[in-house]
This record gives sequence, structure tokens and C-alpha cells, in this order.
Amino acid sequence: MVIYGDYHTHTIYSSGKHNKKHATGTILENAMYAKQKGLNEVAITEHGFSHKLYGLQRKNLAKMREEIEEAKRKTGINILLGIEANIISSEGDVDLTEEDIKQLDLIIVGFHSFARAKSIKEFFKFFLPNLLGLKRKKDYERNTLALLKAMDKYPIDIISHPGINMPMYFDKVALHAKKTNTMLELNGKRIAYKPKDIEVIKEICPKLIISSDAHSAKRVGDIKKPINFAIKYSVSNEQIANMGKKIYFKNYKQN
Ligand SMILES: [Zn+2]
Ligand SMILES: [Zn+2]
Repeated sequence: MVIYGDYHTHTIYSSGKHNKKHATGTILENAMYAKQKGLNEVAITEHGFSHKLYGLQRKNLAKMREEIEEAKRKTGINILLGIEANIISSEGDVDLTEEDIKQLDLIIVGFHSFARAKSIKEFFKFFLPNLLGLKRKKDYERNTLALLKAMDKYPIDIISHPGINMPMYFDKVALHAKKTNTMLELNGKRIAYKPKDIEVIKEICPKLIISSDAHSAKRVGDIKKPINFAIKYSVSNEQIANMGKKIYFKNYKQN
């Protein structure tokens, strides 16, 4: 089984001040490995701007676009500029402006404990319970609603590692993902779905996407974990959006 493209990879642009090795590849290196692994496309999706440790700096977006054009010429494969934005409030706010969105080819949104909350109030309401790993009914409800609202407010293509550090009701998320044409990720490193969750997700049938979440160039296209997961739980190839097929992202105009 071969994926058409790996749409969730990081480069040195999201290596933080505190840990320069958080991600180690350059854009060109990620593209070279993608090509070597037989992929047709790769997306560069750095951590969103409000990530306290590894967030991309806004001023680098234009520079990244230039590097992408150069790497496309050198490797001959298609490279997209995306982002792995952060959900920053229980109201579904994400750390992207309209101006940012115009500059991006695809948008991934995920929950990251080390993102800056939209406000102090939201830190206590939304971040702290998740940081503490609380799994009360109200935590599931609040998180689920936050994600549903985010899908309504923004042209989100992919929800990254659903359920990691953010417990949620997968049935409600899957229904809304299907309705809003948002893909749920089978992440190359972390998958939170329990057997009963994946059965529900298969039945509701939103699109899924397999990606590496590579933080080094050599891990680009490394999808052993999600492939094994898909095989183990008999997820059909048709449900996986990038299984041998090109994806048309909401914001991508250059197809
Ligand atoms: Zn992530
Ligand atoms: Zn990531």
C-alpha cells in the first residue's frame, strides 16, 4: 500500500529556542526523502504560531514558500505549504488569522498542551483539565464541542492525532468531520482510537488520512504504525483519502 503524499511533516522551522533538535530536516531534505520513498507530494506543516516551544514564526512563512519553490525545482515533486495549527480555546478558536490562511495550501489543526491559550480564562477552562489528564464527562463534552466549533469556523483539512491529550467523543467528531469534509488523521506516531472507537469511525465513515508526522527527514513517509493499525482493524482503502490518491485540499488553488 502506497500513499500518494505525506501531508504532515516538520522541519527545522519548528525547532524551538529551547530544543533546537525538535525537528531536524530542511524543506529540501524532507522533499528528497519523500521522493526517495516514491511519494508524489509532501506537505511542510510546522507547529502553529502559538506553540510556546516549537511554534513557527510568522515572518518565516514567505521564506518557506521560496524554499519550497526551489525544492520543487530540485526534486521534481510537489511540495505544499501547510501548518499544524493549535486549537486555543473551548470556543474552537485556532491560532490563525485570515491573512495566514490565504498563505497556506492546507490546514491541519491539533491540540497541543504547550500552546498558548487564547486567554487566562481559557487556560483554566480548556488547557488545564487536559494538561492534568482529566477525563470527566464534562472534559469529553467541552473538548468535543471545541473541535466541532473549530471545524465550523475554519477551512480545516485535517485533525491531527485526534484524542491525544484531549479526550473527545469520536462519534460526534467523526459525524462533524464527515459533514465539513475534514479528514481525521491516522498519525505515524500516536493513535488514540480504541477498538470500539475505530469501529464507530468506520461506520460513520469520515475520510481518514495517513501521515508520518515526521520530525526528521528520514522519517518522511514512515507510515508503518498507521498502516498496521488500518490492517489490524480492517479500515478500507476507500476511507483513507491519500491511499494511492491525490487529495484536493480546501485552500489549495494550484492543482
Ligand atoms: Zn501534533
Ligand atoms: Zn506534527
